[in-house]
Amino acid sequence: MPNYIAPLEDMMFLFNKLRNNEKYNEIEKYKEVNSELVKDILEEAAKISQNLILPLAKSGDESPPVLENGVVRTSPGYKEAYKKFIEDGWISLSCDPKYGGQGMPKTVSTFFDEMLSSTSLAFKLYSELTIGAYNCILRHASEEIKNTYLPKMVEGKWSGTMCLTEPVCGTDLGLLKTKAEEQSDGTYKISGQKIFITSGDHDLTENIIHLVLARATDSPKGTKGISLFLVPKFIVKEDGNVGSRNGVSTGSIENKMGIKGSATCVLNFDEATGYMIGPKNRGLNSMFTMMNLERIVVGIQGLGISEIAYQNSLSYAKERKQGKANNTKSQNGADFIIDHADIRRSLLNMKSIIEGERALCFWLSQQTEVSLHHSNENAKQEASDFVSLMTPVVKSMFTDMGMEITSEAMQIHGGYGFTKDLGIEQLYRDNRITPIYEGTNSVQAADLVFRKLVTKNGDIIDKYLKLVKEEINIKDEKIQSFTKQLDNYLDMLIKFTDWIKEKINDSKDDVSAACNDYLKVLGLVATAHAWIKVLEVSFKDYDNNKDFYEDKIQTANFYFNRVLPKAESHFKSAITGSNYIMDFKFN
Ligand SMILES: Cc1cc2nc3c(=O)[nH]c(=O)nc-3n(C[C@H](O)[C@H](O)[C@H](O)COP(=O)(O)OP(=O)(O)OC[C@H]3O[C@@H](n4cnc5c(N)ncnc54)[C@H](O)[C@@H]3O)c2cc1C
Repeated sequence: MPNYIAPLEDMMFLFNKLRNNEKYNEIEKYKEVNSELVKDILEEAAKISQNLILPLAKSGDESPPVLENGVVRTSPGYKEAYKKFIEDGWISLSCDPKYGGQGMPKTVSTFFDEMLSSTSLAFKLYSELTIGAYNCILRHASEEIKNTYLPKMVEGKWSGTMCLTEPVCGTDLGLLKTKAEEQSDGTYKISGQKIFITSGDHDLTENIIHLVLARATDSPKGTKGISLFLVPKFIVKEDGNVGSRNGVSTGSIENKMGIKGSATCVLNFDEATGYMIGPKNRGLNSMFTMMNLERIVVGIQGLGISEIAYQNSLSYAKERKQGKANNTKSQNGADFIIDHADIRRSLLNMKSIIEGERALCFWLSQQTEVSLHHSNENAKQEASDFVSLMTPVVKSMFTDMGMEITSEAMQIHGGYGFTKDLGIEQLYRDNRITPIYEGTNSVQAADLVFRKLVTKNGDIIDKYLKLVKEEINIKDEKIQSFTKQLDNYLDMLIKFTDWIKEKINDSKDDVSAACNDYLKVLGLVATAHAWIKVLEVSFKDYDNNKDFYEDKIQTANFYFNRVLPKAESHFKSAITGSNYIMDFKFN
């Protein structure tokens, strides 16, 4: 089993030192969320992740959930761990106190999301979809529905799911067939089959609240005819308690490559009672509330798995001896593999990406809070635009990097990484779903270039690039070797953006063939921007914590010399266009 120690020092550094975000600091309700409180919360979060959750990764992988007589039984240890998890109030961390939540901002809960992803993504998913469903109900449901369902979900007694995918439709939800027939009392009868439903059934909670996309019988075809319904596994009685079984059953559990401890189910809806959430035929819009926040969390899954992969690679490299390093220290025998330049490069690649991503994610969580809770509408809108621009970037880049990093971790462990002995290959398998679910990474890239750069709110990418230009205009000479480099890549990104804007009207295939590269360039630049924020503090505050800041400066140095330049090859290959791709005849 891999080891894990939560990176609390880095997390507290971000929370304490990267808080010069004026708009975030203006949010009234978070003024009391101070450093001491956050340190206490994160220390407890680290304990529960390291001690309670980490062992579940192996048990879920070796003994996946089973379907017995129509009931899904979770892996050994999951039930007991979940009970403790909810008793200690961890599900409610970021939920509204009105419904029993602790009201912590995303600048805190994001770190907990990362710890859980590091220790057992499969276990995390049981609570993650509950929070997703909670967010969707909170924003779009009637007061009556909110009061009936949210307190139990926040308590963790009831869990949530997101039911979109069907056998014929994953990406293209316009094809969905599940139907909803309106009844005289205003409820609907939902019938159809959903597949790949995370936490679709299990034995951890007394009820499961499914959020289901379906088409009302009188609604048009395509995405404009989709509505959103709340369909509980057990009908809730007027007194708020669980009543009779609703018409939802589990057809099977998917047999998967990774996250085996997570019950991914085929669900059959047979005239199940459903309650419409939000306006009719606007179901996709309501579901997007859940999906957008979820997509950032999926990015964090990639970050969390990368972190545990890095930690174990570093320890292994310090204890495994093989071959002589160039400037060999030992006269006899072999050197530790950490002395080999190539292993050091690989470790620094992981470390510089992970710490840059964590800083970017912290900035994004500040922006998300501003977009939801700032008192000024313009501030809210601007933050919301940045969040919408960065959501596909974080989802895709962090999960793709997760593949690169878990693969490198396996490489550093050699044969012991490929065999099951140390649990490293499981990290690779567990991460492999993250570039696929919540909208594949290619679909994220298309969403970014076709819908997020310029919107009805204006030229968002222009605003973002301007913001970065302004923020890296720093007088401190020590930082200028970094800011100058980033400035060059920013200019390249500006050229790339102009190329996209020019092609988007008359050569869509050129843009489609370039969108993955564009997302990567934007991601690499955004991470460099986050690194500049870290460096600014590191140089200013250097004397107060020399070892920590020297580590940051050297790690950033690697990122700027070895990782950021990859942006150029993406740019150069993308602008070669698509004729030779589209004209190719596959036999
Ligand atoms: C473990 C697991 C858990 C899941 N959990 C849930 C869940 O809780 N709820 C839920 O509703 N779903 C869930 N899913 C489904 C998941 O979101 C879908 O698998 C995913 O969205 C892709 O859909 P698909 O599998 O039908 O692939 P398809 O949509 O068929 O895509 C196949 C390939 O074509 C590409 N492609 C598709 N359209 C385009 C396009 N327009 N342009 C370019 N390329 C395109 C895709 O990128 C992909 O590479 C889960 C899936 C898995 C495996």
